[in-house]
This record gives sequence, C-alpha cells and structure tokens, in this order.
Amino acid sequence: MTDLNSKLNNMKQKYREIFMSSAEAIEQRVNELKPENFEGDIFDVYEKDSIGRKWQADVLEMFEKDISREIYQKWNEILSYRENFHCNGCATCCNLACSEFSPEQLKEKAKNGDKFATQFTSIFIPYETREEAEKIYPEYLKLLKDSKEEDVYFYHCPKLTECKRCSDYENRPDICRHFPDNPLCILPESCGFYEWRQEVEPATLMLHSMMEIIDYYKDKISFLAP
Ligand code: SF4
Ligand code: SF4
Repeated sequence: MTDLNSKLNNMKQKYREIFMSSAEAIEQRVNELKPENFEGDIFDVYEKDSIGRKWQADVLEMFEKDISREIYQKWNEILSYRENFHCNGCATCCNLACSEFSPEQLKEKAKNGDKFATQFTSIFIPYETREEAEKIYPEYLKLLKDSKEEDVYFYHCPKLTECKRCSDYENRPDICRHFPDNPLCILPESCGFYEWRQEVEPATLMLHSMMEIIDYYKDKISFLAP
C-alpha cells in the first residue's frame, strides 16, 4: 500500500466516523422541532395542513436558514484560514493537472461557455504519455492505478519556465490564483498549502457530511409530499 493510499483510506475512515456523528446531531435537531406528544416519523407521509406536514416544513426551513448558513460560514472560515499559507513555488500543480475530460472534451466544454474549461484550456496542454506525467508525481499516479481510476488525462502548463517560474504570472487565470480551493484535494507534501489542507480536513469532512445528510432529508421529504 502506498503512502497516499493509506492517507486516502484514513480519510475515508474518518469520513465514516464524522458522518455518523453528524447524522446523530442533525437527527437531534430534527427531533427538537417535533411537536410535543406527536407520534410519527419525519419521513412519514402526512396530509396537507397536518401537524406532521408542519413539522416537515419547519425542518426544511431549519435546514435552509440555520444549517445551510452554518455550513456557509464554516466554509468561508476554512477559505479565510488558507490566507495564512502561501505557495512556495514547488511547481507541481503547474506541471501536473489531472482531468476526467480529454483535451477534445475540454475544448468542447470551453466552446459551450464552461468557465473552468475555458481557463484550463487556455494554459494546460496534454502530456504525450502517461510516463511523462508519472515522473512529476509518481505516488499520485500509483494511487490512481491502485484505485482503478485510470480514466484520467494528464496536462501541464508550457508557461512554466525551466527554473519553475510562471512566465505569465501577472495574467495567470483564477484557477492558478486560487489553487488549491478544495481542501480535500490531494496535494504533495511539498505544497505550501499542505498543512492547511491537513488542518482543515476534519472540518471539511464534517461540512460534506452535513450537506450529504440534509440533501438526503430534503429529497426524501419533498419526494413524500403529495
Ligand atoms: S499559468 Fe503560470 S501559474 Fe498557471 S499553471 Fe501555468 S505556469 Fe503555473
Ligand atoms: S503545488 Fe502548491 S506550492 Fe506547489 S506550485 Fe502549486 S500551489 Fe504552489
């Protein structure tokens, strides 16, 4: 098992634990809104204007007004905390960008107005071979292979100079300026944001679990509403 593989497995294990405690906490908040002496489950089907339907509406409102706001605030805190860390110019992200989309698919998406694809295709070009990409970050390519995620395309930016500097720094697109904007992305230990990613991982997993759980409630409740 590679080092990255164990890290990924640890993260999945942590997510399962965090998910269980978030589910418990949200269930408690749902039950706090339950009308007194009311028998019934939040996922039961209730008549229009009934007490049960009112409870479901209160729960949906609590998700929108309270929990979604808490998630949004926490997410902003995570991103603000990122300001304490800085790119140290290791150049890995310029030398190796991965996408599930082929160069042709990305160009098509860019043509259709996809902002990310437009920026991506404005700087990155595909590696000729997988081996070239492997030299940049072998552990990551091994991880993809071990987890059978092989439908990945590898790209690099020709604007990177031999001494690992961006030759068009002032005009680099937002995807470069804001990288990494996802605290759960896999980063090499050489990245100046690695510590940030490690520190905020538990909070990010918690937010993901909360979003997953409230989406489940929302889908099920609105699906049940006749
Ligand atoms: S434009 Fe500059 S910062 Fe962006 S990937 Fe290319 S070399 Fe890196
Ligand atoms: S991987 Fe991290 S430290 Fe390296 S160039 Fe990209 S943002 Fe900077």
